[in-house]
Amino acid sequence: MPRTKLPKVGTTIFTVMSQLAAEHQAINLGQGFPDFPPPGRLLEGLDAAMRAGHNQYAPMSGIPALRQAIADKTERCYGWRPDADAEVTVTSGASEAIFDAVHALVHAGEEVIVLDPCYDCYEPAIDLAGAKAVHVPLDPATFAPDWEAVCAAITPRTRMLMVNSPHNPSGAMFGADDIAAIEDLLRGNDIVLLSDEVYEHIVFDGARHESVLRHPALRQRAVVVSSFGKTYHCTGWKVGYVIAPPALSAEFRKVHQYNTFCTFTPAQHAFAAMIRDEPEHYEQLGAFYQEKRDRFAEQLRTTRLRPLPVPGGYFQLVDYSAVSDLDDLAFCRWLTTEHGVASIPLSPFYETPPPGQRLARLCFAKSEATLDAAITRLQRL
Ligand code: PMP
Ligand code: GLN
Repeated sequence: MPRTKLPKVGTTIFTVMSQLAAEHQAINLGQGFPDFPPPGRLLEGLDAAMRAGHNQYAPMSGIPALRQAIADKTERCYGWRPDADAEVTVTSGASEAIFDAVHALVHAGEEVIVLDPCYDCYEPAIDLAGAKAVHVPLDPATFAPDWEAVCAAITPRTRMLMVNSPHNPSGAMFGADDIAAIEDLLRGNDIVLLSDEVYEHIVFDGARHESVLRHPALRQRAVVVSSFGKTYHCTGWKVGYVIAPPALSAEFRKVHQYNTFCTFTPAQHAFAAMIRDEPEHYEQLGAFYQEKRDRFAEQLRTTRLRPLPVPGGYFQLVDYSAVSDLDDLAFCRWLTTEHGVASIPLSPFYETPPPGQRLARLCFAKSEATLDAAITRLQRL
């Protein structure tokens, strides 16, 4: 048997729950992916790109047209234009970007602060780099960061702070005060900020996404990660990107060029045209999902599950304490096998799950028919 480099890692909870859903013909509101197609223009663009012969290696950092489109979109959304050549890198999804950033910038023996609950790919990347993840819990009720606790966790070995807004799994979002707190926290040290903004366009109720890219003091020390999978309903295409200042981008690309070298060429052409020709898609994404969020929350109120507020992203947390006293892993299993609805427990997102937390995550990036069918089953609880 090989000596494992990742003793804490098993199969991800997303795979476990999707498999269980398939075995039990459950409606899968677990793993986060839309059950509706990407925009027609994007599909046509992909087909056209392949037929036009864009089937060989792309440039390592991404095709120029896509990097330009990303730079233009960033300026349009956040009022600042990155240099498309030196500061934008196209990656094979946000996961690759996060892995590369950690490996490029964090040395063995250094520390990376993560805020629990956090997305599951952060810690394995840190572990493989020979570094240490330092977990600071978010408020268990509101999922707001405790910046004083983050400050207290900083040591001379801290190399990176990872943040995620809108947040998976809770949907919580940073406000201007959080950005100010991060600025204060990082002033005078050389900690790199990794900002995971994959749900940047899925924000609700007129709120503004506080992208790190809006803030000069932060963006000059940050790696900002995004994913077209979330924005364009194509999680399986695995295309994302990173925006970082030239020196950080140069180090980032050293890992990217030997990890994947480049990202699926025809999709890059399709995204370049889509971003340029139909900005309405990302501009209207918040309204599109807000309708789903509101309808689903309303329906959930006819069940014994209690929906929590969802400021952003496409996940609805529900408190199931009126239904069951099982722990969340057992509850999500039971809900799948006995009631035919798959969800995601929160405890795998934590180093130390809050004792007694009775929350499950439901993905509402689904058609009305899927959500209606799930609600009918949940009403029987
Ligand atoms: N970060 C967060 C917070 C996510 O939710 C996800 C995927 N759902 C990723 C990163 C990875 O994105 P990708 O599929 O583009 O690798
Ligand atoms: N990010 C998706 C989620 O949170 C899952 C992606 C995956 O399965 N790796 O549900």
